[in-house]
Amino acid sequence: MIRLSKSFLGPQEKKAVNRVISNAYLGMGPEVKNFEKEIKEYLKTKSSVIAVSSGTAALHISLQACGVGVNDEVLVPSITYIASFQAISATGACPVACDIDLDTGFIDLNDAKKRVSKRTKAIMPVHYASDSSQMDMVYKFAKDFNLKVIEDAAHSFGSLREGKKIGFHGDLICFSFDGIKNITCGEGGAIVAKDQNIISSLLDIRLLGVAGDSNKRYLKQRSWNFDVHKQGWRYHLSDLMAAIGREQLKKIESFHSKRKEIVFSYIKNLNKREIKILNLDYANNHQHIFPIRILNKKRNKLKEYLENKGIQTGIHYQPNHLLKKYRTKYNLPNSEIFGEEILSLPLHCDLRKKDVKKIIQNVNSFF
Ligand SMILES: *Cc1c(COP(=O)(O)O)cnc(C)c1O
Repeated sequence: MIRLSKSFLGPQEKKAVNRVISNAYLGMGPEVKNFEKEIKEYLKTKSSVIAVSSGTAALHISLQACGVGVNDEVLVPSITYIASFQAISATGACPVACDIDLDTGFIDLNDAKKRVSKRTKAIMPVHYASDSSQMDMVYKFAKDFNLKVIEDAAHSFGSLREGKKIGFHGDLICFSFDGIKNITCGEGGAIVAKDQNIISSLLDIRLLGVAGDSNKRYLKQRSWNFDVHKQGWRYHLSDLMAAIGREQLKKIESFHSKRKEIVFSYIKNLNKREIKILNLDYANNHQHIFPIRILNKKRNKLKEYLENKGIQTGIHYQPNHLLKKYRTKYNLPNSEIFGEEILSLPLHCDLRKKDVKKIIQNVNSFF
């Protein structure tokens, strides 16, 4: 079976994990501190990097640090991983599902405009399939309506916007390092934050609210006499995970070129008669997934066909506003079409040339 996605690790990660195990200090310590420092250097950003236990945790506490909570509303595209919605409802706020642009999967701001209310506090755009070309318009929109922006950049670690790495621009950018993202820690995430007050909130919130504990942990110490000002969560990253992430970060350029090669091979060779390639900035994105639209209601048949040929595919995503917990009273036509047409082809660093060829041949032969 050709897998849809896969972690890609080597002896370097094993060695790093062994180093941490030999130290017999697995919690948050110097590996986390170094990981944060190395991410900051990689992104060439002036903002701070705060490592957490998952991308979901990054989104959750970024919202909390912005003051989002009970009775508030947050605008979010319906087409995203369930994590975006759960992170919003975890704060007590209500996720307000917005429609998307069919050509990109990005939030449709004309639709979002209709959903702004007195309670709207923030907007969470998703860098769908690593693309954030329209982010300037989101910041303009947020300014017009006085909203906070929390960027769900789970897909886009290593991508460029206006010639700079994602995380260079913007207020609050959330990354995921789960098993299949552009780089992995096993499980992990990070927040890139600009505002000093938000940064100090985040540093405490990730460690159960224990004030000032981050600096102690970096030195393998902890506070015994402490105060707590805020609701916190046990969301810090462990040295074990950070050690894996540090090795992955060293390899990111090779991951990027591998993925890019596969993506451009798909774009060039797929028969586009009943397929729509999304209109994304493929040259500048570090593609996490490669979703395409399958027209004429053939998506499910193609999915099954490929499965039978030993090729796994994915659906990124079914619309969240159709789920029981998040069901809306209104329709989101583009999201509903997208949810029925979208199909992700395999994309990971362990795909061989002949796998890619087999995938392309089978998709084309189906049509
Ligand atoms: C992976 C992902 C997340 C959550 O990240 P985890 O590290 O899995 O918690 C959030 N949003 C999107 C769009 C994702 O793909």
